[in-house]
Amino acid sequence: MALTKRENLNGIKTSTHAVFDKSYNAGNDADYSGIYKCSKCDREIAHNKDDNPLPPHYSNSDCRSPNWKLFIYAETK
Ligand SMILES: [Zn+2]
Repeated sequence: MALTKRENLNGIKTSTHAVFDKSYNAGNDADYSGIYKCSKCDREIAHNKDDNPLPPHYSNSDCRSPNWKLFIYAETK
């Protein structure tokens, strides 16, 4: 079951779990799979935690140091 922090129109259930407030830099290992959003530039990526670490932005991005936060948690059983 997918989870996100804020109410939405897509029926994705919400959670206030602290993992949604945790920040990750490029090169950090993500704790969960899902969609991560950079809090500086709003770029979103789909990331599987088995593919850790979290990536940098593309070289053409104006945002040089991503601050990834979990935006949508994807339950992978
Ligand atoms: Zn960014």
